[in-house]
Amino acid sequence: MKVTSSEFIISAVGPKQYPTDGLHEIALVGRSNVGKSSLLNKMMNRKGLARISSRPGKTQTLNYFRVNQMLYFVDFPGYGYAKVAKTIKEQWGKMIEGYLKNRNELRFIIQLVDIRHAPSKDDIAMYDWCKQIGLPTVVVATKGDKIARGRWLQHTKIIRQSLNLRGDDTIIVFSSETGQGKDELWAEIMRRIRA
Ligand code: GDP
Repeated sequence: MKVTSSEFIISAVGPKQYPTDGLHEIALVGRSNVGKSSLLNKMMNRKGLARISSRPGKTQTLNYFRVNQMLYFVDFPGYGYAKVAKTIKEQWGKMIEGYLKNRNELRFIIQLVDIRHAPSKDDIAMYDWCKQIGLPTVVVATKGDKIARGRWLQHTKIIRQSLNLRGDDTIIVFSSETGQGKDELWAEIMRRIRA
C-alpha cells in the first residue's frame, strides 16, 4: 500500500466528534508502551504524527488519523495502568465500550502485544471481549527486532495460545525499527476492508 497522505483529524471525547464521512475505521489497542504510536507512525510514513498518543491518566480520547482518504486509524488510550478487565466497563468508560459495540464504520481491531512477553490478563480480557461482541482481531507482535528472527515462531506461538486466537484472526510480527511486518500488515488491512 502506498501511503500518499496521512493526517491527524481529531481527539474525540464522544460520538458527536466522530467523522461522518463513512470511511472504514480500524481501532488500535494495547497496553501503554507496547509501541502503538511507533507502529502508527511507521504505517503512515510520518515520524511525529501519532506522538499525541494517550498517556495513562490523561483524558481518554479516541485519536483519529486519516490515511489516503480511504480509512481511519483510531488510536485508543493505552491500557495497563487502568486495568482493562475492569475498565472496559468502568475506567475506560462508556464511550470506548460504546464505540467498540456500536460503531458501524469499525471493521476490525489491531491488538498490539510485545513479542517478548506472554500476553497480560488485560490483553486476554481485551481479546476475549472483542470476540464476545464479534469483532475480528489482527494481533501484532511488536518490537520484533528485540529478539532473534529464529525465535519469532516460538514467541508468536505462546501469544497465539495464551490469547486462544480464534476464527480468522491472525498474528503479524512487526518492528517499527526495521519496518518488518509493515507491508504484511497493510496487505492484511486491505484484504479485510475489501472483504
Ligand atoms: P505506545 O505507548 O504504545 O504508543 O509506545 P511507543 O510507540 O511510544 O513506544 C514505547 C517505547 O518502545 C519507545 O521507547 C519506542 O522507541 C520503543 N519501541 C516502539 N516500537 C519499537 C520497535 O519496534 N522496536 C524497538 N526496538 N523499540 C520500539
